[in-house]
Amino acid sequence: MLLTSPAALPDPASPPKPILQLVGLRKSFGGFDAVQGIDLDVREGEFLTIVGPSGSGKTTLLRMLAGMDTPSEGNITLHGELINDVPPNRRPTCLVFQSLALFPHKSVGENIAFPLKVKGVDAAARKARALELMRVVRLPESYFDKNVMKCSGGERQRVALARALAYDPEVLFFDEPLSAIDYKLKKTLEKELKDLHRETGKTFIYITHSLEEAMVMSDRIGVMRAGRLVQVGTPEEIYGAPVDRFVCEFVGEVNTFQVKRGPDGAWNGTDVPGTFTLQPPASGAVLDEAFVVVRPEFMRILAPGESADNRLEGVVYNEYSLGSRIQYQVRVGAKVMLVELSRGRALPSSADRRVTLGWDAADAFTLES
Ligand code: ATP
Repeated sequence: MLLTSPAALPDPASPPKPILQLVGLRKSFGGFDAVQGIDLDVREGEFLTIVGPSGSGKTTLLRMLAGMDTPSEGNITLHGELINDVPPNRRPTCLVFQSLALFPHKSVGENIAFPLKVKGVDAAARKARALELMRVVRLPESYFDKNVMKCSGGERQRVALARALAYDPEVLFFDEPLSAIDYKLKKTLEKELKDLHRETGKTFIYITHSLEEAMVMSDRIGVMRAGRLVQVGTPEEIYGAPVDRFVCEFVGEVNTFQVKRGPDGAWNGTDVPGTFTLQPPASGAVLDEAFVVVRPEFMRILAPGESADNRLEGVVYNEYSLGSRIQYQVRVGAKVMLVELSRGRALPSSADRRVTLGWDAADAFTLES
């Protein structure tokens, strides 16, 4: 296996075949279903992230995939072979934990070479391979003899990754490995993990609470809610075409309001004033009531004479710096709408902070309420 050359780019004409297939996967604890009938094909070589709020069943799902728990119902197949009851050490998979589970009294090199020692690889070959893996995860060679507890959090994370790669698994599972790391380092490690994925060509299955993390790294994201996978798609599909209100709100800050069809068929606001031009829901459902979502970056503050499909009158009452952008909170009746403008784009001036918000129909989602 070559670890350092980039994996071949996928051929769009022949989508990668599934490495893991989950069919009707269920896990019950007593009478409670923590995972409720999941069907999913994991493609060979993809970076798949499972996101969801606390308690949605992410860890329970991962534990079944890694062989630490057996499903109550359903099947897991790897390359077409049923593996429901195969123990973790007999699967070509490896789990990288949040807690890392490194040997504290051993050196970086000993930690990385541990799986090779278990396999009976001789000392010289172990050292050569450990050094090669240290290069892959960008650890300096001089760290080989350093005690792992004298390494920083980010360095330990790299040691854990190198050790996982030493098992030469086909699938790597990650259980929130970056959750205890400070923001700046987390951003660096996210990019490194993404690079590592490309360089190794292995299948990565990653779980996290953080959608931001998922968006940066993943080829596909699965969103879990109450034991079910409610949507699986590329980051663009999850962000740009959420299937329901839950996914939409989970995916980021949004402006929402309710509408109802009037006798003339027009959409009238029920919690904001006005009549609105909306796109039909992506589901194709014919609705009398709907839930409208406009992301803050699509909501504009209109200059006098500027047109938009939809408008709302409001009053700016707060603003927050988001670095390169500024977020304005605008009261519209009892609701608060969020608008994000690039820094340097001035708010149209008005003594009483009154503004007209506007957005085009194509920039909003219409979902079942
Ligand atoms: P978090 O993000 O907080 O780690 P999660 O999405 O990983 O949450 P799980 O740990 O999979 O969620 O738990 C899903 C549900 O199953 C929770 O309600 C949890 O209390 C329950 N659960 C998990 N393991 C067990 C167990 N061994 N016995 C009983 N209930 C369990």
